Amino acid sequence: MENRKNDYIWHPCTQMKDHEDFPLVMADRAEGVWIYDKEGKPYLDIISSWWCTLFGHNNPRINRAVKKQLDKIEHVIFAGFTHEPAEELCRRLAGLLPRGLEKFFFVDNGSTAVECAMKMSFQYHRQTGHPEKQRFMTLAGGYHGETLGALSMGGMDYYSRMFQSLLLPAIHVPGPDCYRCPYGKHRDSCQAECIEGAEKVFEEYGEETTAFLIEPMFQGAAGMRIYSPVYLQKLRKLCDRYNVNLIADEIAAGYGRTGKLFACEHAGISPDFMCLSKGLTGGYLPMAMTVTTAKIYDAFYADFNEKKAFVHSTTYSGNPLACAAAVEVLNILEEEEPLQHTEAEYLTSELKAALEGHKNVGEIRSIGLINAIELVEDKGTKKAFDPEKRVGYEIYKEAMGRGLLLRPMGDVPYFNPPLNIKKQEIDRAIEICRESIEAVLG
Ligand SMILES: *Cc1c(COP(=O)(O)O)cnc(C)c1O
Repeated sequence: MENRKNDYIWHPCTQMKDHEDFPLVMADRAEGVWIYDKEGKPYLDIISSWWCTLFGHNNPRINRAVKKQLDKIEHVIFAGFTHEPAEELCRRLAGLLPRGLEKFFFVDNGSTAVECAMKMSFQYHRQTGHPEKQRFMTLAGGYHGETLGALSMGGMDYYSRMFQSLLLPAIHVPGPDCYRCPYGKHRDSCQAECIEGAEKVFEEYGEETTAFLIEPMFQGAAGMRIYSPVYLQKLRKLCDRYNVNLIADEIAAGYGRTGKLFACEHAGISPDFMCLSKGLTGGYLPMAMTVTTAKIYDAFYADFNEKKAFVHSTTYSGNPLACAAAVEVLNILEEEEPLQHTEAEYLTSELKAALEGHKNVGEIRSIGLINAIELVEDKGTKKAFDPEKRVGYEIYKEAMGRGLLLRPMGDVPYFNPPLNIKKQEIDRAIEICRESIEAVLG
């Protein structure tokens, strides 16, 4: 028992008191999927250190690119100046993103990218004759970040409950819930019947709505809740009908996590805004982007005195070191084609073989290399565990003891490893995951 009341550091999303009997790991160095502590104990990082290290820690190519940039220019004000790493990054990304996304606004974290999209969409409608459009819609169970605007759009009690009275009044549309589908369908074959929840809300509020914000293909923080691409196709049509901007939050889903470079590709749709971060710099530096179309951009393009500019800035906008890392990520994607060579199928089939039969495994769902294990008290009724039992947290502790960084969301342990994880590493992770689940649940 070590009292943490004298600590200097207040860690994110953490009850510090938990660390009285479970010490923080002093990370010393890292390589590939491995993080080593001061004593040299390895931890297999199966969650890409909060979903961002795209090609593993200490990647030699990204290291080299950042070091090279460091000797040229570390940072420059991004108003009145531009630089080659940023220009190259956007020029190349425009050719990779879904059709029409070609205007790039730089910020330094995902939550801010979401808020920029909201502000741009709001201002766009004002400047195109629709001041009545003041509302935002989003899906229940979504996660879009922690700053107040982004938090307002999130639909997870755990993060927002405390701050309800401070939040913007977003409309939370009941979204897909495929494990417990009320229509008795399956996500692989349904017609997204649950879109009717959105249809009703659009009928009532569509005309007053600015934008619909969604995590395409899966709701990450809700427990990697994967849903049908048909939902996105139908939502795109609804947005078109009501002149509502579609904002795709690809902060978690982008950069190959779902098996395609961007999750919207599964549905063949283009959003009006896309938010990127996490994998964008390979997990090296804090950078994010709000990407939009020429149509939106043009509504802001005018003489200064028309007062149509987007008045928003972030100190570290377009940081050259972060851009250099992001350009190298594109080089790796193009030259090494990691998306064509992932072990996604192997991971899913091995994980199912190891755990599908367990009495508490309700569902193992996967998209790309993301695999999530929904643990339930009763498989037949799909009854969840009492959250106060903290089943996921107990599994986390067991796994850490065995050298696996597995950090369940609630009672959903999941894998979201670097795209270049190898078979032996997958084997090791699954073995420890199974042992840890069995240690807690039998
Ligand atoms: C992580 C995340 C965010 C927030 O990004 P931060 O950089 O942590 O602010 C927003 N949306 C999604 C889907 C995320 O996964």
